[in-house]
Amino acid sequence: MVRGMFDDRPPDTPVRYRTSNVGERIAILPATCKVGTHSLARVGYRAQASEQEGVVRVSCNACNENIDVDHFWSLTLTGAAPARVELDDSPYAGVVPVMVEPRSRS
Ligand SMILES: [Zn+2]
Repeated sequence: MVRGMFDDRPPDTPVRYRTSNVGERIAILPATCKVGTHSLARVGYRAQASEQEGVVRVSCNACNENIDVDHFWSLTLTGAAPARVELDDSPYAGVVPVMVEPRSRS
C-alpha cells in the first residue's frame, strides 16, 4: 500500500461555509497552517477533499517540506460541494487543533 501525504487522523473541526451575495456556497478554509506559523496564501497549500471520507485535508507547503507530522488540517465536509474556496482564520477562532505533536502556538 502506498502511503500518501495524508493519514486518517480524526478531524479538527467542521469546514465553515458562507453564502455569497449571489447565492454561491463558499467553503472557508483556515488562512494559517495548523502549526500556526505560516500564512497559507504566502507559502502555498494543497487541499484534497475526499467525498468518501467526508473530509478535506489542507496541507501547508512549508510544513510539508519540513515533514512536520502536523502539516495538515483535517476538516469535516457538510452538504453540497462549494462553488468556491476562501481562506479566512476568523471563523476558526477558538478551534483547538488536534495535534500529533503538541506545541505552543506563537
Ligand atoms: Zn506551516
